[in-house]
Amino acid sequence: MIIVLKGGATQEQVSGLEQELQQHQLTVNKIEGAETTVLGLVGDSSRVDVDWLRTNEAVDRIIKVQEPFKLANRKFHPNNSVIKAGNVEIGGEKIVVMAGPCSVESEDQILTAAKEVCACGASILRGGAFKPRTSPYAFQGLRGEGLLLLKQARELTGMPVISEITNPFYLEMFVEFVDIIQVGARNMQNFELLKELGHIKKPILLKRGFSNTIEELLMSAEYIMSSGNPNVILCERGIRTFETYTRNTLDISAIPALKRESHLPVVIDPSHASGLPWMVEPLSLAAIAAGADGLIIEVHPSPKNARCDGAQSLTPNLLGQIMDKSRAVANAIGRTL
Ligand code: PEP
Ligand code: MN
Repeated sequence: MIIVLKGGATQEQVSGLEQELQQHQLTVNKIEGAETTVLGLVGDSSRVDVDWLRTNEAVDRIIKVQEPFKLANRKFHPNNSVIKAGNVEIGGEKIVVMAGPCSVESEDQILTAAKEVCACGASILRGGAFKPRTSPYAFQGLRGEGLLLLKQARELTGMPVISEITNPFYLEMFVEFVDIIQVGARNMQNFELLKELGHIKKPILLKRGFSNTIEELLMSAEYIMSSGNPNVILCERGIRTFETYTRNTLDISAIPALKRESHLPVVIDPSHASGLPWMVEPLSLAAIAAGADGLIIEVHPSPKNARCDGAQSLTPNLLGQIMDKSRAVANAIGRTL
């Protein structure tokens, strides 16, 4: 439930109302805008007598939120959230490109990739250190050493870095070395991990699970936010359908749906969605046209030698071409890139 307060409500009236609501075991989130102040109630608001509330002198109107997600809900927070990672803003007018290899493989590989994607105009470097592979025999990532190499790449280029966490045990290391923590598709509903990520303030890029609905994605964001971390970025990376032509099916409709339902930034991963390097460009352009706030793209200095996801990785040269076309689409819809 959202309570819109009257313009002339006094501090005293508002805090009196807040106290009364808290007595109903509700958490009251006060959002003070330039003209309007709203109280967002989190918890079981069925305990509150709406008729009683309407008579309160500070209350202008009451909006009932049907959706089970509250903190991620746009009704609750009408303006877009802009999330800062280092000096980069995600969710603002500028569309952000995150690029880099699927996994960090060596010092030379990640530093070369970092310099190349930076030269193409990407603003955040991606690189997996803990890799959740389908096969236990496949390359599992350089783990802690990989995070240290990402830190080195950040020092070299000044780009913030993003890497996937698979276990809360390593959280301290991620907080120290990484600017955005990625939750992979396989862990979207690892609720214990999500709660731990709510205890820090680092931005979290939350990927949609391949069999999860939009509402389930938003509920997972709600886990992080209700534990105390408002800095969540949503990511659509393709879902599993009957179609086998592509690795997954990019749900382009998730972009307008998420932007309508939530104020959180939305990033698209065309690499894992398609699994096809030549399809990354059209999907990137479509995502920007549909309102995405960013792209996360796999780029490797030498895709054929990659230890993970080489088949879907772009060469830096191709990334440069995609950046140019993406900029044109961004400009056409009144945004920059
Ligand atoms: C990745 O980004 O390399 C990755 C494993 O992504 P996802 O969780 O979307 O499969
Ligand atoms: Mn990958």
